Amino acid sequence: MPEPTLFDISKANRRGVRYPEPDVPEADFPQDFLREELPLPEISEHEVIRHFTNISQYNHGVDIGFYPLGSCTMKYNPKVNEDVARLPGFAFIHPLQPPETVQGALGLMYELQEWLGEISGFTDVGLQPAAGAHGELTGVLIIRAYHRDRGDEKRTKMLIPDSAHGTNPATSAMSGMEVVELPSDERGNVDLEALESECDDTLAGIMITNPNTLGLFDENIVEACQLVHEAGGLVYGDGANMNALLGTCKPAQTGIDVMHFNLHKTFSTPHGGGGPGSGPVGVVPELADFLPSPVVIRAEKGDEKNAPFYDFHVPEKTIGRVKAFHGHFGMFVRAFTYMISLGKEGLRDVAESAVLNANYLRALIKDSYNIPYDRMCMHEFVVQGEWEDAPDIQALDVSKRMMDFGIHPPTNYFPLIVHEALMIEPTETETKETLDEVAQVMNKIAKEAREEPETLKTAPHQTPFGRLDEVKAAKDLILNTSLPEDYGED
Ligand SMILES: *Cc1c(COP(=O)(O)O)cnc(C)c1O
Repeated sequence: MPEPTLFDISKANRRGVRYPEPDVPEADFPQDFLREELPLPEISEHEVIRHFTNISQYNHGVDIGFYPLGSCTMKYNPKVNEDVARLPGFAFIHPLQPPETVQGALGLMYELQEWLGEISGFTDVGLQPAAGAHGELTGVLIIRAYHRDRGDEKRTKMLIPDSAHGTNPATSAMSGMEVVELPSDERGNVDLEALESECDDTLAGIMITNPNTLGLFDENIVEACQLVHEAGGLVYGDGANMNALLGTCKPAQTGIDVMHFNLHKTFSTPHGGGGPGSGPVGVVPELADFLPSPVVIRAEKGDEKNAPFYDFHVPEKTIGRVKAFHGHFGMFVRAFTYMISLGKEGLRDVAESAVLNANYLRALIKDSYNIPYDRMCMHEFVVQGEWEDAPDIQALDVSKRMMDFGIHPPTNYFPLIVHEALMIEPTETETKETLDEVAQVMNKIAKEAREEPETLKTAPHQTPFGRLDEVKAAKDLILNTSLPEDYGED
């Protein structure tokens, strides 16, 4: 049953707030602006609070329950990040303030660049891009600028493995690249033979995700980067899965030349309806001059030789600005707070626990689900939501049934190379008790798939809304159900 709307609970003359009699003369308000016919619900304050609190519970979030949305790293967002982002010195500054008045903020941006560089092995980092996909676009534009700068105009071919996130081919195409898909080998790695056959003088580069979207560390990463470099191309790293690598592997050392970070995944800034993302880009020294402008540098200024002064710097061959002002500053504060509150050891713990949690859950459900690439996984793994002896059941049915147990469904139907894929990423912030419970639920659902498939087919049963017509929901979207039916008819 849908929640009653504000109009359903409205009763004439109820008020949330009652104003005292004015003790000043009434102003002459232009009456034309008052629309008598405008329907406004009349409700007391506590009814309004209950209404919105109730409907807020319809939405699943990391603060409500398990959220294993693969590739999205829906980890807990520590609340101290929010406190720090709201400090007046961060929250109330203006992006056009002169640098000398915002040294603290610039210092934070500089330190964040340094930390991201240290974690990944890249020497230079730009913070501007607004999200992962935007970081990809920035990175591919940097690759394009690098080749053009050398007068190598014919390098327009971008190789993309078939397991890649859809944003990879999209950002390549937007940058004017010709996208060529590469197959994966039987262990889920980049297929080196196929890669080699594409290595010619039109190669701009490759976009590679490591660990890849199957949750597997690409065992061919070093050879793949070497092949591309020998052919004169560059390697773009999709860093969305950095959560698995923090403190254990620096992507730059495996041969990657430019990579984006998803601060909203790896570094716990909220995402998924929770706020804007942030997709900083790290580069090797050869590409530093092409970074979007400006970056923050630590300069020496005036007599205060020892006091650092932070300033903006426009890289010499910059691809230009990719975002208004300096990017999503509030996200920088949250991500940096997360980093310094965990410290070096803590960040390494994050990756180790993320990998341990994923492998633990994988081991607990591997007898009930088919796991196509069954080897030690990194921070996530992919199972199949289909069984030979349950011909009608699809991954979608498994996901819908999980909702009955207060669990957000895993990522469905991605990566595309796995039939009926369910991509599960528990993240490091879940306890063993939660993982045990989730495994129990998933094993129960696998059993139901064979014994009572109808229960899955008609799920969810326990949520405020039942199974939606997915086509109608997309094609005939009604966002505002709170207006009375006759509103706006004439
Ligand atoms: C999330 C993700 C992206 C895109 O990042 P956004 O921040 O959502 O734009 C790219 N690649 C992979 C593998 C991802 O998981």
